Amino acid sequence: METKIRTRFAPSPTGFIHLGGIRTALFGWLLAKSQNGQFILRIEDTDQGRKVTGSIEHILLSLRSLGLEYDEGPDIGGQYGPYISSQRLAIYNQWAQKLVDKGLAYSDPYSKTEVEEFRLLAKAQKKPFLFRDYRPKLLSGWDKTKALRFKSNPKKYTWEDQIMGRLSAGDESIDDFILIKSDGFPTYNFGHIIDDYLMKISHIIRGQEFIASTPKYLNLYEALEITPPKFVTVPPILGPDGKKKLSKRDNAKDILEYLNEGFLEESLINFISSLGWNDGSTQEIYSIEEIIQKFKLKDIQKSPARFDQQKLIWINGHFIRSLKIDELYKLSIKYLPKEASQFDINYQKNVLGLVQDRLKYLSEIDSLTSYFFKRPNINYQLIKDNKILFNLGKNKLISLLEKSIQELEKSVFSLEDITKKLNNLLIETNQKPVVLFSLIRIAITQSPFSPGLFDTIYLLSKSETILRINNFIEYLKNN
Ligand code: GLU
Repeated sequence: METKIRTRFAPSPTGFIHLGGIRTALFGWLLAKSQNGQFILRIEDTDQGRKVTGSIEHILLSLRSLGLEYDEGPDIGGQYGPYISSQRLAIYNQWAQKLVDKGLAYSDPYSKTEVEEFRLLAKAQKKPFLFRDYRPKLLSGWDKTKALRFKSNPKKYTWEDQIMGRLSAGDESIDDFILIKSDGFPTYNFGHIIDDYLMKISHIIRGQEFIASTPKYLNLYEALEITPPKFVTVPPILGPDGKKKLSKRDNAKDILEYLNEGFLEESLINFISSLGWNDGSTQEIYSIEEIIQKFKLKDIQKSPARFDQQKLIWINGHFIRSLKIDELYKLSIKYLPKEASQFDINYQKNVLGLVQDRLKYLSEIDSLTSYFFKRPNINYQLIKDNKILFNLGKNKLISLLEKSIQELEKSVFSLEDITKKLNNLLIETNQKPVVLFSLIRIAITQSPFSPGLFDTIYLLSKSETILRINNFIEYLKNN
């Protein structure tokens, strides 16, 4: 019988959760969802010294905001709780005691200075330092004021990793590591093994930094007579240059920051899943449902993934463009300029419809739409920056703008008629669109780019368009 899939995300609350962490969570969630399994959140706060206030809340909020709902977890409980290590100390103690009783764990009798001496000695002998070389001959019981160490049984191991394939390591990678620290807390090395077992975890998904420790874990699993879960090692995420590990300098932001900037949940899931997973096709855009359906462990790659923010922006643009206008409006309310609320909802939607194609993320909405909701200040620099317009001289600009007003005055102001009138004006004034239309665009938007000029004029209304052109003429005359 196939065992039920149960995956877990087990972050330590030592700071804000980074993209790599979210990717690990996502893969665990996808594996569980794709196989009708369960996804569990466990907070591993065993290192009390590294705890950061607010970190747990940040983890919960990040997962929720991305829709990575868990079936069991610290705030919702479940059959195998508690789901926070610090609330499981009695459980770890019990399991440690089992090892003590079997003569497979012992109190570390040495002081820090003594261990340091051993280390120096090993160095002088050009040997790697292994604690077990200094293991006391007579093992005492468990003195809880001291660290409890595992009495390892060094040997070679070969094991199967679901992604990396067959891996092996010699007995030098096995040592008497600490199980319970003198503060009563377990180490990650011990705690996670007990927790995964008791929580019936079927697959451990984690980064390559844990491969080196796997032989130690295998040794401990054996001592505990526990069958290990399946190991799934996900590839590292490199920065955009494809060389160094992704770091803060690569502009990778906190997931909540991406959401705040108006990256959609779908885009983020799509992008993050592509960091190490590919179904073998060239498809780039997937709905979340589709990713769940297609997700298979065998399609997680061994080779490092590369973080490319441009790709995320591209994916986001795609999802924004495919939104219905009502959906876009709902998501955009908090990004629209504050003046927008004084306008009718249909006008707001029409404005959004005009910029939708160009939006990369929703927080651009404010700057891209502001001139639809408030009269922009005159920015003469735009003329100075446009060589052709600047060289025409103010008088010529004024005359072109005056003629534009005359045409617009005459227009019945349908989109077709605005188009027709302004195209006629091109012929009449013998100007190219880059000249005449750029000038009108600057006059009414005070911005070098806008959606289609005719659409913009149509939406702004006749009176507003003419008023803005007049204001600009006044400015040119007086400055
Ligand atoms: N608490 C460990 C960490 O945050 C989790 C490793 C694991 O998934 O087992 O690094």
